[in-house]
Amino acid sequence: MIYCNYCPGYCCYRLEGSVLTITAFDISRLAHHLGISDNEFMHSYMETRRTFRVREDGSCIFQSQDKMVRRCTVHEARPTQCRKFPYGKPCPYLEREDLLSVIQPRIEAGLAESWKKEG
Ligand code: SF4
Ligand code: SF4
Repeated sequence: MIYCNYCPGYCCYRLEGSVLTITAFDISRLAHHLGISDNEFMHSYMETRRTFRVREDGSCIFQSQDKMVRRCTVHEARPTQCRKFPYGKPCPYLEREDLLSVIQPRIEAGLAESWKKEG
């Protein structure tokens, strides 16, 4: 989607009631991409058998923490659900105030933290 290039990655934050489902195929593809075994990948990055860990602010463990851009650091090997979103429809994050009002403060706090760390 063209808007993704200008978006801080709203869809890479976990919201209450939403789940990023990771399949066994996703795990193998990501492990191969990172040059580690499936077991090592699961140990390092999975919260449960079905989903990634997230940071305290709810951001995906694979979202970059750069102060200027928030990109997927495993874009080429990202999970199927990430590839398919928003399923050929308009992106809900760009249209729904209720979603943005939850995510935007987290993004701003994360950016402020990055600026502090990186100086
Ligand atoms: S799919 Fe939507 S929320 Fe995700 S990066 Fe693209 S525009 Fe942003
Ligand atoms: S794997 Fe990449 S695209 Fe998917 S939620 Fe994480 S950072 Fe976003």
